[in-house]
Amino acid sequence: MAGNWKMYKTPAETQVFFEKFRPLVASAEHCEVVICPPFTNLAAAVKSAEGTRIRIGAQNLYWAKEGAYTGEISAGMIKASGCSHVIIGHSERRQYFGETDESVLKKTLAALEAGLNPIVCVGERLEHRESGQTEVVLIEQCRGGICGLNAEQLAKIVIAYEPVWAIGTGKTATPEIAADAHRVIRQQIRDSFGADAAGTVRILYGGSVKPDNTRTLMAQPEIDGVLVGGASLDPVSFGSIVNF
Ligand code: PEP
Repeated sequence: MAGNWKMYKTPAETQVFFEKFRPLVASAEHCEVVICPPFTNLAAAVKSAEGTRIRIGAQNLYWAKEGAYTGEISAGMIKASGCSHVIIGHSERRQYFGETDESVLKKTLAALEAGLNPIVCVGERLEHRESGQTEVVLIEQCRGGICGLNAEQLAKIVIAYEPVWAIGTGKTATPEIAADAHRVIRQQIRDSFGADAAGTVRILYGGSVKPDNTRTLMAQPEIDGVLVGGASLDPVSFGSIVNF
C-alpha cells in the first residue's frame, strides 16, 4: 500500500502526519506500507518511520550517478537518505515533464543499481480509453519501460497501473476495468519473463483510491495493492486504506 504525496507537505507537517499515522498501522502486517514524500521531506519521513515497518520512497530520480545536472537527484542520493523505494514514470511526470518509456527504463535501471525498489507507473489517458487504445498503450509502455529489464531486476520492481483519467478526478476505475488492465500487463510480463515472474510480480492500482473503495478493489485477485495520491495525505484516511 503506497502513498504518493506529490508536491504537498513541509518537513514539520510530515512529522505531524507520522505521529498520527504510526499507531494506526502498528499492527498492519498483511502488507508493505510505503510513503513517498517530496525530496525535501525524505529525511523527516525516514526519521519519523524509524523502528516501524513503514518504508519511505522518493517520487522521481535522475539516472546519472552524479554530475552537472542542476536540480536533479540521483538514485544513490535517495538510497543514502534512507529510502527503499522510488516512484518512476508517474503520469504527471510523463505529462508535464516529458518523461517517456525510454527515460522510465533508464531511471528504473539506475534505481535498481542503487539498491532501490522502483514502483513503475503505466496507464492510459482518457482519449486512449475512449478510442479503444488502452491495451495497445499498456503493451507499449510495458515493452518500452519494463520488458528491457532482466528477470532478476523485474523481481525487484512493483508495477502501478494508474489510468490517467482516474488520477485526482474522483473517477475510480471499476474493479473490473482495473483487473482487465492488470491482466494485460501481467500477460506482457508472462510473454517476456515467463509464468513464474508473471505470477509473482506485484501490480498496484492507482487512481482516486479512497477508504470506501479500497476493499472492493482489493477483492480483485489481480490487484495486489494500491498507489494512493490525495487520500494518502491524511493519516486517518491512509490508515484505513492500509487496514482495508
Ligand atoms: C497518484 O498520484 O498516483 C494518484 C493515484 O492520485 P489520486 O489517488 O489522488 O487519484
